Amino acid sequence: MKAYTELLPATKSEKHGALTWERADDNAASPFAGVLTITGKRDHCRYRVEEYPGDEAGRAFVLFKLDAGTDRTEERYGCFLARSGANLCECRGFTATRNCKHLASLTELVRAGLV
Ligand SMILES: [Zn+2]
Repeated sequence: MKAYTELLPATKSEKHGALTWERADDNAASPFAGVLTITGKRDHCRYRVEEYPGDEAGRAFVLFKLDAGTDRTEERYGCFLARSGANLCECRGFTATRNCKHLASLTELVRAGLV
């Protein structure tokens, strides 16, 4: 399948973020949804994205890092896209700013109907 590429909304720390999404072929049969690449001015990082059954409150994803990324102490991030808009991520960026590239990327993929 052709990769999907989209720019991410500019933030204070990252004005040129972008994502690339390569969807898994058999995502109906496994939690593996696809591979997400997030690029920015300083680095790029690939993530294996898995979706786990959520509930009516929202959708639950885990992003497993395939590259070292900017925070080498973390290997994966749990992300939650809440219907209420009160999204959650385990990364440091979210802890600091209540927003991050992981949630921005997942939000874009959901908006585009790709996950
Ligand atoms: Zn995050």
